[in-house]
Amino acid sequence: MLYTKLVEVYEALNSTTKRLEKTEILADFLKLIGENEPHILPPVTLMSMGRIFPTWSQKELGIGSKLLMKAIASAVGVTPGEVEDQVRETGDIGLASEKLFRRKSQVTLFTRPLTILKVYKDLVKIADISGGRSQYKKIDILMGLLSSASSFEAKYITRTVIEELRVGVGEGTIKDAISQAFHIPKEVIERSHMLTNDLGLVAAVSREEGEEGLKKLSLKPGKPVKPMLAQLSPGIGETVKEMGWAICETKYDGIRVQIHRKGEDIEIYTRRLENISLALPEIVSYIRESLPAEDFIVEGEIIVTRDGKPISFQYILQRVRRKYDIERMVDQIPLTLYLFDTLYFGNNLIDTPFRRRREILESIVRIYPGKVEISRQVKVTPSDIEKAQKLFEDSINEGHEGIMIKDPEAPYMPGIRGKKMLKFKAEPETLDLAVVGGTYGKGKRAHFIGSYLLALQDDDNQLRTIAHVATGLDDKTLAELSQLVEPLITNQKGRTVRIEPRIVLEIAFSEIVKSPEYESGYSLRFPVVKGIRYDLSPEDIDTLERIDSMFKGSQKS
Ligand code: AMP
Repeated sequence: MLYTKLVEVYEALNSTTKRLEKTEILADFLKLIGENEPHILPPVTLMSMGRIFPTWSQKELGIGSKLLMKAIASAVGVTPGEVEDQVRETGDIGLASEKLFRRKSQVTLFTRPLTILKVYKDLVKIADISGGRSQYKKIDILMGLLSSASSFEAKYITRTVIEELRVGVGEGTIKDAISQAFHIPKEVIERSHMLTNDLGLVAAVSREEGEEGLKKLSLKPGKPVKPMLAQLSPGIGETVKEMGWAICETKYDGIRVQIHRKGEDIEIYTRRLENISLALPEIVSYIRESLPAEDFIVEGEIIVTRDGKPISFQYILQRVRRKYDIERMVDQIPLTLYLFDTLYFGNNLIDTPFRRRREILESIVRIYPGKVEISRQVKVTPSDIEKAQKLFEDSINEGHEGIMIKDPEAPYMPGIRGKKMLKFKAEPETLDLAVVGGTYGKGKRAHFIGSYLLALQDDDNQLRTIAHVATGLDDKTLAELSQLVEPLITNQKGRTVRIEPRIVLEIAFSEIVKSPEYESGYSLRFPVVKGIRYDLSPEDIDTLERIDSMFKGSQKS
C-alpha cells in the first residue's frame, strides 16, 4: 500500500474534529488494510497514532529537531537556517516541510513512490542504529526517505519522526476504530489492550481470529500491563465492611514499578509503562538475587530511604530520569523496593484472588533487608478495625503516606480504578497545634494522659480547639510528654484536665472536616502525633485561616 494512502487518511482525520467521524475514517482504513495487506495492519495501527513502537518499547528514533532540520535542508537543497525560519513562521515542522518540499517538487520529480512498509521499515532501521557515527547513519536513511517524498508525505514523515502527528487521534479513537472495523465489542478490545498494550497486535488478532482470539490473549513477561489503580477510601471501617474482610498494607510514597523477568532479561517499567531498567541497575541486580530465575511479573513501589526512613519522593525522580552518571547516583540515592503483588509466575495470575497472589509473592521472594522487602501487611475484619488503624498510625510515624486497603478476593484488574483496591492517606501537610487539655486513661493507664486536646489560633491569637489526639506516640515519647505536661495542668475535673498552652505537637491526619464539636468549627480525621515540636511556641502554631484554606482546597479536589 502506498504511503500516500496513509497520508490521505491523516489529512481526512485532520479535516474533522468530530470523534465519530475520525473513528469512521480509521475503521474504513483498517478494514481496507486488513483486506489487502493484512501483514501491515500492526504497523499501520501504530502509525495512525503517529507511533512506530508500542509505548512500552524502549526503542526510540533518536532524532532531535536540529538533526531533523538538517535532513530536511539537505533533502530540499536549502540551508538549515532557511528550514529554521520556516519552522518559526509556521510553528510546526510538518507544515514547514510541506512548504519547502512543495517548492522542491516543482523542479524534481520523485521517481520511486513510497510504500507504508518502506517508511515503517526505514524508521525502525533508524531506531536500531546506535554506536559511533550513529547520527550520520540515521540522517542518511532519513534523507533517503525524504528525497523520495512528496510535500504531503514529507509533512507526515517529519511529524512522525518528532512524534507529533497532530491529527487528533489517541488510543481511544483507535480502539473504537478497531472495534468498528472488525465487529468486536469495545470491552473485549479494552481488555486485550490492557493485557498486551499493543494496539497493533490487538488489531491483527481482531481481524484474524475475532473475539475468541482476543480472549485468548494473555499477559506475557516482557510486555507490561497497565497497572491496577486505587480509589480513595472514604474511611477504613466503611471500606473493610464493604469488602467483608481486607488486606491492609503500608502505602509507600515512591514510584510504582512493574518488574518483568523473561529468560535472563529483567526489565523495570513505570506506571506509564516506560522502561527504566537502565536507570536502576541496582534494582535489576537485587531482583536477580531475590527472586527465582524463572519468568515472572511482580509489582512494587521503590522509595528512597536514609537511615531506614523514607525521604522525599523528589529524589527518586532524579534517579529515574537519569541517563548519565548512573553509577554515582546509585551510591548517592539508595533505593528500597517494596514488593506487593505477583501478576505472573509460571502462569498468568491476574484472575487469581489477591490473597493467593500475595502468598505466591511471599513464597518466592527472598528478603534482602533494606533493598528488597515485601510490603507490610495486616489482615482485618470489621470486628478488628483497630489493626488497620494501628497500621495507619505506624505507617505515618515511619514516614509513609498511609495505607492501602485491598479486597483479598479480587482479581488483578489492569488499568481499572475500582473498589477492589483503595487508599487511605494522610494529608501530605501536617499541622502544628498547641496542647490545651487532656484526659487520663483508665485501668493500667490511669496515671497517663491518654488523649490530648489540641488547639489552633484565630485572627486574634485566641486558641480554639480542633481535635483530640490519642495516638502516634511511642512509649518513650508518651512518657516524655506526660512529664512535660504534668506541671502545666491548671485544672482537673474527673479524668479531664486543662493544660497551660506551652507544648506544640506536629500532627498528621487524613482529612479536615467541619464539626460543631470543637471551637474552631473543624475537626481532624485520624489525627496522629508525628512529634513534639520543642522548637516551636504557641505563637507559632497553625491558624484558623490556614485550616479554612486547606478545607476549601480539599473540597475542590
Ligand atoms: P495514588 O498514586 O495516590 O493513586 O495511590 C496508588 C499508588 O500507591 C499505587 O499506584 C502505588 O504506586 C502506590 N503504593 C504504595 N504502596 C502500595 C502498596 N502496598 N500496594 C499498592 N500500591 C501501593
